[in-house]
Amino acid sequence: MHKILTPIAAILLSSTALAAPPSPTGYDIVEGLTTEVGQRLAGTEAEAHARDWAVMRLKALGFANVHIEPFDMPVWVRGTESAEILAPYPQKLVLAALGNSGATPERGISAEIVGFPSLEALSAAPEAAVKGKIVFVWHRMTATQDGSSYGTYGPIRFAAPTIASKKGAAAILIRSVGTDHHRVPHTGVTDWAKGAKPIPAAALSVPDAEQLERILARGKPVSLHLTLTPRMTGTRQSGNVVAEVPGTDPTTGIVLIGGHLDSWDLGTGAIDDAAGLAITTAAAKSILDGPRPKRTVRLVWFGAEEPGGFGGEAYAKAHGGEKHALTAEADFGGDKVWSFRASFAQPKSALRDTLATRLSLIGVQPLSGEAHGGTDVGPMVQKGTPVIDLEQDGTRYFDIHHTADDTLDKIDPAQLAQAIEAWSIMLRTVVDTDDTLAPLPPRKGEE
Ligand SMILES: [Zn+2]
Repeated sequence: MHKILTPIAAILLSSTALAAPPSPTGYDIVEGLTTEVGQRLAGTEAEAHARDWAVMRLKALGFANVHIEPFDMPVWVRGTESAEILAPYPQKLVLAALGNSGATPERGISAEIVGFPSLEALSAAPEAAVKGKIVFVWHRMTATQDGSSYGTYGPIRFAAPTIASKKGAAAILIRSVGTDHHRVPHTGVTDWAKGAKPIPAAALSVPDAEQLERILARGKPVSLHLTLTPRMTGTRQSGNVVAEVPGTDPTTGIVLIGGHLDSWDLGTGAIDDAAGLAITTAAAKSILDGPRPKRTVRLVWFGAEEPGGFGGEAYAKAHGGEKHALTAEADFGGDKVWSFRASFAQPKSALRDTLATRLSLIGVQPLSGEAHGGTDVGPMVQKGTPVIDLEQDGTRYFDIHHTADDTLDKIDPAQLAQAIEAWSIMLRTVVDTDDTLAPLPPRKGEE
């Protein structure tokens, strides 16, 4: 049932809403950002609007030193996109251009398809088999709790377009790097290596990729008409939004946490990465509302992560010289934390034991091996900043990742609350620990 508000009632309601601090629960952040801003493609007006929203919300929550740190970046925007098999079985296919995709002419192109079951098969193909054709690469990615299948199959999106371009392909289609069976394609950035001309590059939804694979298996020549008209719009401004919980002892170093504010343009960026902002912000808020920490918590809502980690690089450039005690990033959806990894200078320490004991109370177990952070804090990790990964359950993450289906309804409030609790426990432990959190040797060749 809906009541129509009188103008005065509406003003009273909105001013009450402004005066009352928003609830610190993370769900409110995901709900607010996805509802009031929606998609936030890097370097666009929408992302700028998201930064203003972020400043308003972080100030309202009571954080200190809330400000925007702008930087410039090249901006890619989507155009029209369609694909149609011309022969032997005419039909439309559902696809989405990859970030940084080149464009076809407005009228599109028609060419024969050449298919490859893997990146390796494409790499091994002679130029003559590929030249002038539309390359299609498929794979068999399946869901994993730790998300490791993205490591295996992600290169089909990052690297196959460059390989196809260098062999003279007219365009490339990939099977979406995703684990669902919905007719919803997964976008994501592709990287053109030096000397590779950007060609039209798109991801078919998984059912469409399977359809094309079956059609190719019939053994008849397959031709396709493809129209993709994205464009680079030049250098635009993005920015990181920074907020702090000031510590009592600045000599102990900063604890840097955050997620990314930009999203792909197809959905509303709920799991990627409004959820990460919600988790890290709610955890930082728990420090703000508790006893004053020894270390300063610096919360960053990074800009322009998706097109290539521009925000993380800008942060490291601006702040790399400051003493950082520890970093951690949330960019793996809104589901529960099930394990953690830590990379400290001392492999065995009281801090690690304390973390393991406290986190085990909510079912989070330690894992061996290195922690990596993510794209945004990666440059600081490379410099040797100690890092903790709170591993979230990724079983359903790649069903939704980078699709039009990345919307608020995919957030499970109970799992989000558990992730916030895990982060709050971790954060409270590291801001007050007597461990000096000495830096590690710089890492090489890692993102
Ligand atoms: Zn992300």
